Amino acid sequence: MLPLSLYIHIPWCVRKCPYCDFNSHPQRGEIPEAQYIQTLMADLENLLPKVWGRPVSSIYFGGGTPSLFSAKGIDEILAGVRSRLMLEPQCEITLEANPGTVEHDRFEAYREAGVNRISMGIQSFDNALLERLGRIHNGDEACLAIEAVKAAGFQRFNLDLMHGLPDQDLAMALHDIRTALRFEPPHLSHYQLTIEPNTAFAAQPPVLPEDDALDDIQEQSHQRLRDAGLEHYEVSAWSLPGEPSRHNMNYWQYGDYLGIGAGAHGKITELSSGKVWRYGRQRHPNRYLAAQNSGEWNGEERYLEADDRLFEFFFNGLRLREGVNLKHLSERARLSQTKVQAALDEAQGRGLLVIDDERAQATDLGWRFMNDLQGIFLP
Ligand code: SF4
Repeated sequence: MLPLSLYIHIPWCVRKCPYCDFNSHPQRGEIPEAQYIQTLMADLENLLPKVWGRPVSSIYFGGGTPSLFSAKGIDEILAGVRSRLMLEPQCEITLEANPGTVEHDRFEAYREAGVNRISMGIQSFDNALLERLGRIHNGDEACLAIEAVKAAGFQRFNLDLMHGLPDQDLAMALHDIRTALRFEPPHLSHYQLTIEPNTAFAAQPPVLPEDDALDDIQEQSHQRLRDAGLEHYEVSAWSLPGEPSRHNMNYWQYGDYLGIGAGAHGKITELSSGKVWRYGRQRHPNRYLAAQNSGEWNGEERYLEADDRLFEFFFNGLRLREGVNLKHLSERARLSQTKVQAALDEAQGRGLLVIDDERAQATDLGWRFMNDLQGIFLP
């Protein structure tokens, strides 16, 4: 059986950050938590026939800002999930939280509800940069929030840090890294700010560091992270040995996942026909809430063609330092190696890929020019 994860989207935020292209909506008035939970459960019920008998290896509450939901609400959702799906004994249950949205004792209550991993959206500890990013917290609040997560007994947690921020120089970037490492995070996501279409930053682009400065920031930050014992296991993700995010590993290794909530996406392999179905739920919270009555859950859906599966399989898997397991080509992407041989040969010929036993892995050059490498597998 293919591994199966569950993603639960909570679409509200206190306000919209100017760089954000996620499906997040500024909270206006009270969040309709009870109605949303009811809709999530109806959504899940609707999907159950697609995954009968398959155990779930990880659950991820993403957003938006899931920590805007009460611990009671998260508890109710998890109880509803448990009564409908079988969870593996070591099921990883992650909740994204933002400093400034959670009172301290709430982390303990999340843990009691069954959450066993927190992903904290820190982005930076620098007050001026946080303000430029439109974040609602400051550096001190970020530190207090991490301390609260640790005090609540979470041994598994992630810190999200961004770099390449407006007017950020090397010293500022390294200060963020040093501050994050003080908390000894078992997992850290370190990603570069990019300007996405249809965001406030795209309309009024800020001045970002030049490429040379970015190279220095990355090189020196990476050295600090390595010195702290963290392994660079994915393009933007670092962890202590044995601590990668199991949920994200399932995406990168082209496993199946259910997505419930406004704008959530899912990818399910129909075990009887071997077809791979991808869907996206209604993006706007109001349309999503209305789906419980209208039955129109999906904003989009389709069965993936062979070319789509080929691209997705390599696009995701090559981000991992360990590369892709070529055995998974037939098991998960329903493709034969003959279908991809020409692309593998080209990537090897250009020095971007090595094939060793059953694995295809980006070389250092391929890792550096990931877009070029991934582009070889485009339909
Ligand atoms: S808190 Fe996160 S999801 Fe919400 S608007 Fe900001 S970046 Fe987007």
